[in-house]
Amino acid sequence: HAKHNRQSAVQLFELGMDERRLRRQKLAVGLQAALEKDELALHYQPIFRLDTGRIESLEALLRWQSPEFGHVSPLELIAVAEHHGLARALNEWVLYRACRQLRQWQLAGFDGLKVNVNISPTMFMRGQLAAAVAHTLRETGISAAALVLEITEDTSLWDTAGSLDTLHELRRIGVEIALDDFGTGYSSFSHLRQLPVNKLKIDKSFVADLSTDQRAFDLVKTIVTLAQSLEMAVTAEGIELPEQQQRLQQLGCQLGQGYLLAKPMPAEAVAGWLARDGRPYALSV
Ligand code: C2E
Ligand code: MG
Ligand code: MG
Ligand code: MG
Repeated sequence: HAKHNRQSAVQLFELGMDERRLRRQKLAVGLQAALEKDELALHYQPIFRLDTGRIESLEALLRWQSPEFGHVSPLELIAVAEHHGLARALNEWVLYRACRQLRQWQLAGFDGLKVNVNISPTMFMRGQLAAAVAHTLRETGISAAALVLEITEDTSLWDTAGSLDTLHELRRIGVEIALDDFGTGYSSFSHLRQLPVNKLKIDKSFVADLSTDQRAFDLVKTIVTLAQSLEMAVTAEGIELPEQQQRLQQLGCQLGQGYLLAKPMPAEAVAGWLARDGRPYALSV
């Protein structure tokens, strides 16, 4: 009887694997079509200067409302793209779209804003990223200083010489680089010092515990101090409570984003929001 149970458990597991693989394959086909049909969208979440309350930037976040699959999370989409040779097309689509959108907002009179674009770590290992970024900036008329690329901590970033070259080249042309979800991945402080990165984003899991857990508070304090000594600006993500915002301000964290301040919104909603909530900040430089 026990053996029978074990067997069906194995079968079930294998079925689960097959189903997952099948879903990924279907998603990949759907994603390819969505890229061609321009069915993907970007939402934008404002990032604020915590000292002045001014809006600093808008982070582009990928959204896919598929007729077949419903809402697919961007993390799953990126994973699918990575496994099926679509990462380059997808990342370049996001980059181009976000820059073109920022240009449109600039032309509408909302200047002094930046745009943050998430890029998969594997993109940094391939030679073409810096060239693609330079090309996109030229094509859309965006200055390098208005673009912040966000990368998540990934061991390969420190190990691969090609990645470091790409990061250096991007910094050389004036693009900012932010290390996303800082504290959750492989963070070696000695490597951090050598990385051509000028911003750190504290992962929202630390921010969540900030007002209740002394250790989380100490940890965030340490990250802010570390960033200051490396001359990096710190952004806190996932601010949901006023107490969290207050603590971050006390600690000297420069930038913040989260549902408390503003939620991600469709591109079409941003101009209205900027005119209402963002404009007094964005324009009073
Ligand atoms: P991320 O870059 O760390 O983005 C922050 C995530 O936290 C977003 O989830 C955002 O909607 C969510 N968030 C913002 N404020 C709050 C808050 O106050 N509380 C909570 N609980 N969550 C908050 P989203 O949009 O689902 O994206 C998840 C991840 O997918 C991103 O994490 C990023 O790693 C990746 N991603 C999203 N868009 C892209 C893209 O265009 N390209 C690439 N390569 N990755 C992307
Ligand atoms: Mg991000
Ligand atoms: Mg993050
Ligand atoms: Mg994240």
